Amino acid sequence: MTRVFLETYGCQMNVADSELMAGVLERAGMTLVDRPEEADAVILNTCAIREHAEQRVLGRLGDFARLKAANPALVVGVAGCMAQHLRAKLLDKKRVLDLVVGPDGYRALPELLRRAADAPVAEVRLDRDETYGDLEPRREPGVRAWVTVQRGCDKFCTYCVVPFTRGRERSLPLPELVRQFEHAAAAGHREIVLLGQTVNSWRHDGRDFADLLRATAAVDGIERVRFTSPHPSDMSDRVIEAIATCDRVMPHVHLPLQSGSDTVLEAMNRTYTRAEFLDVVRRLRAAIPGVAVSTDIIAGFTGETEDDHRRTLETCAEVRFASAFLFKYSARPDTKAFRWPETVSEEDKGRRLTELIEQQMAISGEIHDALLGREVEVLVESRGRRNDGQLYGKSRDFKTVVFADDGAAPGMLRRVRIVATTPVTLVGESLHAPRPEPLVTLG
Ligand code: SAM
Ligand code: SF4
Repeated sequence: MTRVFLETYGCQMNVADSELMAGVLERAGMTLVDRPEEADAVILNTCAIREHAEQRVLGRLGDFARLKAANPALVVGVAGCMAQHLRAKLLDKKRVLDLVVGPDGYRALPELLRRAADAPVAEVRLDRDETYGDLEPRREPGVRAWVTVQRGCDKFCTYCVVPFTRGRERSLPLPELVRQFEHAAAAGHREIVLLGQTVNSWRHDGRDFADLLRATAAVDGIERVRFTSPHPSDMSDRVIEAIATCDRVMPHVHLPLQSGSDTVLEAMNRTYTRAEFLDVVRRLRAAIPGVAVSTDIIAGFTGETEDDHRRTLETCAEVRFASAFLFKYSARPDTKAFRWPETVSEEDKGRRLTELIEQQMAISGEIHDALLGREVEVLVESRGRRNDGQLYGKSRDFKTVVFADDGAAPGMLRRVRIVATTPVTLVGESLHAPRPEPLVTLG
């Protein structure tokens, strides 16, 4: 058992968990391979947040069933939130699976894979103390490094499966995090994104998230610090001040609203009202000039009326989010809301989602248009994804910017003037571009 193929679904926390697993496997002498056909074991790192995410993974398991039919020694594993969520039930699935391992079982992964080669194994115990803080992930090279600073969640929003799949909230110790930041900087990463389900409730040994932001920004070689996702109820003045006063902490806050109706927010157990959310946005904007605020919204939660939906539209129009992840509500087993009868038809959910998307596209488009002619600072990440002659990067407030290649390598900062926009991208001109030689020199 030496070659492992690892495939990741879902959020950035899963991407970071896959990097953690890759580190654990390599230290045990195993090799990560790019194609499942070359592997002795395949592991799918999965997401359970919406039903659609689970359906995709179950579909993918069909591919591995075919591979296993041709190579019966292949070990097939499911890791992550779906593993935790469906637990032993998964092991029966088409008799394809040999291993089911939840988010707190990764330390023992090499041993679990070896055991799974002989008989099916399920390791789905949640561990209140496991943070993996001492384990070095094998990070994908690139400008950005994702660092998990907090695991689990204690908020128990009534629609959300995360507290059941990832267990109780735990913060990683500051010294272990600083060591990870220094390693990331030494490996060439220029931006660090701090990850946690309610990342701004991070605390350890008398330090809070404001201290963590300052400690991250102080690491040599790190140009930019970002974080996701803060919870509106944990957005203290100390945290806002740290964002405002640390030049390397970027002026972008992804602040999930979920709904603009107080009735729905209460049913969701979000612990804030619409007015309190608006107040957090007001405090952010007062303290941090040019801060971009983005959000998550769920359309069609159980009990959401047309009036509630209208309040969400109005709240989004009032805040004018820079961008938004907009989701149709998906009832998840284990959650409190799963027991409540669904009241919004699929058709109405779809229509409400479309209305939210259309309004948001118009707002994002207007915000982008207002940037025409302005200069922004871009951290170059790669070549353009659609056009090889372009460079791709992010502005300080996390807008996507593309501009004609001026020779900048990934990791370099560029000043760029915005010359065209779409609701999702800014097109710029580098102010570093070598000026063309004049055709005729007079005088
Ligand atoms: N912890 C983060 C927070 O509270 O902002 C987000 C975690 S979750 C991975 C990302 C987003 O998925 C949530 O903000 C929410 O909008 C959405 N989500 C969670 N559960 C959902 C569900 N059952 N149906 C639809 N969307 C859901
Ligand atoms: Fe889920 Fe709420 Fe925790 Fe976010 S804060 S992970 S939505 S329970």
